[in-house]
Amino acid sequence: YNHRLQRTEKLKIISDLAASVAHEVRNPLQVTRGFLQLLAARTDEKDKPYFELATNELDRAAEIITDFLTFAKPELDTIVRLDLSKEIKKIEAIMTPMAAMHGGILVFSGESEIPIYGNSSKLKQALINIIKNSIEAIGKNGVVEIGVFEEGGDAIVRIADNGQGMEESQVAKLGVPFFSTKTKGTGLGLMVTYRIVEVMKGSIKVFSAKGKGTEFTIRFPLAEPIPLPHQVDD
Ligand code: ADP
Ligand code: MG
Repeated sequence: YNHRLQRTEKLKIISDLAASVAHEVRNPLQVTRGFLQLLAARTDEKDKPYFELATNELDRAAEIITDFLTFAKPELDTIVRLDLSKEIKKIEAIMTPMAAMHGGILVFSGESEIPIYGNSSKLKQALINIIKNSIEAIGKNGVVEIGVFEEGGDAIVRIADNGQGMEESQVAKLGVPFFSTKTKGTGLGLMVTYRIVEVMKGSIKVFSAKGKGTEFTIRFPLAEPIPLPHQVDD
């Protein structure tokens, strides 16, 4: 018999294992976070910063796990018809506080009802990872513009910041696993984004100028319009 596992079977086992470990670790992190917040509410004012630090570090761990989970299992579980504008509105609600914390603002604009096919939570993860980098790249008076629109039969998301920008050599490394210029970076964020966008049959273009800012253009195929019920002339 063949007592050796084939390479693809091995990879499947490793990625299943990674996914289940990541999943199991996420729950205790959530619970711990909840109790920390509870304790923070009844603690001395002078000790509050420690609770905030601890909570932030837990969030960081959760983020790494989320990215890692997608790395191990990038395929979309369920693909449905989505309205890209609606998805962006949800992202706005999630990311606005983070931008404020960094002293910058998010400016949203766009058309309504842009139908695409995809998975809502993966799409969110892909776009949030780009927006998070923009927020981390901006300084005081930083602005991140996020626009959604249709162009040439495609659905487009444009994310532009006036942050620190990148050299061309840096742009070339985007999406490569573990490429990071941050002391606390994982270098997994954009790799995950690129994989998700690829699975959604989309593409990403990046334009960046050192000291000026960065612009990501993400393009997805539009879903075909839902046919209107047959009209009867009378
Ligand atoms: P991480 O954020 O953990 O470093 P990412 O994959 O999200 O990993 O990003 C990789 C690197 O790409 C970052 O460390 C940074 O150098 C660069 N980068 C990505 N987006 C931007 C941006 N908007 N402005 C400047 N640099 C960026
Ligand atoms: Mg990142």
